[in-house]
Amino acid sequence: MIARTPSLIELDNIHKSFGNTEVLKGISLEVTKGEAVCIIGPSGSGKSTILRCINGLLPIDDGFIRVGEHRVHEIESEKAMRPLRHQVAMVFQQYNLFPHRTVLDNVMMAPMQVLKHQREAVHERALRLLKKVRLEGKEGRYPGELSGGQQQRVAIARALAMQPEIILFDEVTAALDPETVKEVLNTIRELVDDGLTCLLVTHEMRFAREVSHRVCFTDKGKIVEMAPPAQLFDDPQDARTREFLGQVL
Ligand code: ADP
Ligand code: MG
Repeated sequence: MIARTPSLIELDNIHKSFGNTEVLKGISLEVTKGEAVCIIGPSGSGKSTILRCINGLLPIDDGFIRVGEHRVHEIESEKAMRPLRHQVAMVFQQYNLFPHRTVLDNVMMAPMQVLKHQREAVHERALRLLKKVRLEGKEGRYPGELSGGQQQRVAIARALAMQPEIILFDEVTAALDPETVKEVLNTIRELVDDGLTCLLVTHEMRFAREVSHRVCFTDKGKIVEMAPPAQLFDDPQDARTREFLGQVL
């Protein structure tokens, strides 16, 4: 018998409605440690909702969600949610940096205030992370002095500062100027190469193809098709996947 690596994220038949509208209609997905999975699909198909259910920002109506040892659907209080939130970071389209704090402070705040780590260790790690996202020399700047792409890389460094096991990226390049999109995607590519487990909602099809181990195509609250990128992009099996790719490629 082949030993199976237990998945780090497991969604089993999750359902989620807003009012009378069911927006997730039985989503099942497993992500193993070190895997990068891209979610693509039309606007409104439920991609962001999937990510928000995974880190417990939204309660589900039915189904099962496990992240590591956390059975997310069973967690009842915000306080009990904290260990999960430390394990799973999320980066959004709007980077939401603190405008009156320096780049360095933005990266240091959460580990100091939330994890209560020692200033010296946090400082050292923040400098290392800012170097990793290629913002060495910008530590003392304020967010407003940076380009959108640079601010988004600060947001990524800030997420990494919490030492998460998983990062969820929700269209993090959607609001950026085309010339800065690439530097953010390169940063993410390096994190994937380092073995960080990532779930990425993206419209960047070339990036999805080059970086992810698997791609999910969602439509109307369902995962229509899930396959390694070469297969999904070159030989999509479902007519809806073909139609979507025909529009965006
Ligand atoms: P995507 O990220 O694929 O564009 P979303 O997950 O954001 O899609 O949204 C899926 C559907 O759920 C959409 O029809 C959206 O309008 C609806 N929706 C999302 N969030 C809420 C909310 N908080 N209240 C009501 N409807 C919502
Ligand atoms: Mg979305």
